Amino acid sequence: MKLYGGVEAGGAKFNCVVATAPRDRPVAELRVPTTTPAETLPRVIEFFREYDLRALGVASFGPVDLRRESPTYGYITDTPKKGWQHTDFAGLFERTFAVPTGFDTDVNGSALAETLYGAAEGLSSVVYLTVGTGIGGGAVIDGRPVHGLIHPEMGHLPVPHHPRDAYRGCCIFHGDCLEGLASGPAIEGRWNRSPNSLPPDHEAWELEAYYLSRAICAVTYTISPERVVCGGGVMRQKQLFPLIRQKVSEMLHNYIRSELIMHHIEEFIVEPGLEDHSGVVGALELARRAEAGLRH
Ligand code: ZN
Repeated sequence: MKLYGGVEAGGAKFNCVVATAPRDRPVAELRVPTTTPAETLPRVIEFFREYDLRALGVASFGPVDLRRESPTYGYITDTPKKGWQHTDFAGLFERTFAVPTGFDTDVNGSALAETLYGAAEGLSSVVYLTVGTGIGGGAVIDGRPVHGLIHPEMGHLPVPHHPRDAYRGCCIFHGDCLEGLASGPAIEGRWNRSPNSLPPDHEAWELEAYYLSRAICAVTYTISPERVVCGGGVMRQKQLFPLIRQKVSEMLHNYIRSELIMHHIEEFIVEPGLEDHSGVVGALELARRAEAGLRH
């Protein structure tokens, strides 16, 4: 039986799956730590060689080159991740397996998965934010993941630095952008403790909710999504959700005249419906779309 292959390429590990359909239970799975391309990629290829693939999808950490006409289409480009700059990804898989290969950012993949099979099923404009080691955001508009000059980089949105927050921010490009102030490493840098060791009523979460709410307001004003799905390791702190909903409500200040935001904000800012699987389901969906001839 021919199968779809999906690769969720993250900064810490690669999740590889083969399945009969994006939402079906995987036939097989493999997790490989993201060390160097020379070490990680051959293990991924070896795994997929065991199966008769009909198409492959790669949802990758970025930045990546998504422009079909570009000579470096399918590459990871200027990533701060050591050893992975200018790595051919989609092309390598396409040449190795000679099957249609879809390629997008991990967060666009997750946004697509949540729109089709998860917490935003049936909606046409959706944002997926992941808050963990880094912060990233993907968007689907009218059922298609957003590409453009490159692709959305919501993790680096400028956000107003809270006047009582003395932490300078840890983004190597911008210092105190959203990722610099609200990623897992930022929380750890500010409080000198791992985020998981902070109690749920610690003031860290109030501040975290403040920064994430600023970003969600910016995204709401620019993209006008019907739902914002928030995932990633930091968002496992469930106490963040009510804090963020309340702050977003206050910050938007009744300007966005939407029933959803004014009366049902709990349906606007939600947890992922696919839990930790948005990424791999997204990768499988990219495979399905590549096979169907959809350019993205
Ligand atoms: Zn930044």
